[in-house]
Amino acid sequence: ERIISSEADLNEISLEQSLRPQNLNQYIGQDKVKENLEVFIKAARLRQETLDHVLLYGPPGLGKTTLAAIIANEMGVNIRTTAGPAIERPGDLAAILTALEPGDVLFIDEIHRLPRTIEEVLYPAMEDFCLDIVIGKGPSARSVRLDLPPFTLVGATTRAGSLSAPLRDRFGVLSRLEYYNESQLKEIVTRTADVLDTKIEAKAAKEIARRSRGTPRIANRLLRRVRDFAQVKGNGVVDEGQAKEALELLQVDRLGLDHIDHKLLRGIIEKFRGGPVGLETISATIGEEAHTIEDVYEPYLLQIGFLQRTPRGRIVTDLVYRHFQMELPSQ
Ligand code: ATP
Repeated sequence: ERIISSEADLNEISLEQSLRPQNLNQYIGQDKVKENLEVFIKAARLRQETLDHVLLYGPPGLGKTTLAAIIANEMGVNIRTTAGPAIERPGDLAAILTALEPGDVLFIDEIHRLPRTIEEVLYPAMEDFCLDIVIGKGPSARSVRLDLPPFTLVGATTRAGSLSAPLRDRFGVLSRLEYYNESQLKEIVTRTADVLDTKIEAKAAKEIARRSRGTPRIANRLLRRVRDFAQVKGNGVVDEGQAKEALELLQVDRLGLDHIDHKLLRGIIEKFRGGPVGLETISATIGEEAHTIEDVYEPYLLQIGFLQRTPRGRIVTDLVYRHFQMELPSQ
């Protein structure tokens, strides 16, 4: 398990729950998304209507689940949570939808993984708040229309591109979550420290923020590890020196890169003079699956401009040579 993984590990799910901000004011960053939602929520409340369906998309750990809960909270309704792969049959979805109360939020995580047959049940539910159910089989089969309470579907996905067009078109609000900048992450670290009753110096919070790969989930995880270290070694207040020392021990460098990122980047430099080199070749060289490289390792490296994807393959940029204090290759 990588400490800088942006996926939640099983042990931290309940802990994350306790760290979640409860309303839009406490939700740090994502200003554009927040501003829009604030207006839509206010308008829906004024008209005493349910909020339009909302699609939240962006990389893992940026706060989609948190935002879904905040939407329900701000609307003053319940939230019911499920995930694309958990809904296998139309009946599963029908059971969930018929149990909703008027105005409720139904949160479907990983909505791009809903089977197509389920999606088709969802269309009339989203559009007209009704379900078309087929009863019986063969010639005696007939379709029955069932009314549903009005509800808001909040869908979350890391891959908006994998969503079918008819499903995507049925969302009134599409919000893309962005990676957080250092000062926003510093605010998140400071807030989390407060919730955890941990004292932290501003410079230590900044150090953690810088190494968190733009992702609150990673920031909170690094803070917890640094806090353990400071509790054992220090006087209870997390200072900059302790933060740096702990993060060095965890092998998270000053940009949040770990040994796997180093292996990947150094591999391209040392074996292929910095590229271009094809994904499959990199995969064979460093002994990692191509799709893992593409889905898990590369996005952050692309985001910070360390790696470029070109038609001829991957290239490491000058920034990487500077980061490793290596000489640039001659042309
Ligand atoms: P996944 O797609 O993997 O489910 P996610 O995008 O739903 O991830 P969350 O579970 O909502 O991410 O957030 C991860 C953690 O980061 C939570 O503990 C949450 O409290 C914290 N967090 C996320 N966004 C913010 C924010 N804007 N302000 C404060 N804390 C945040």
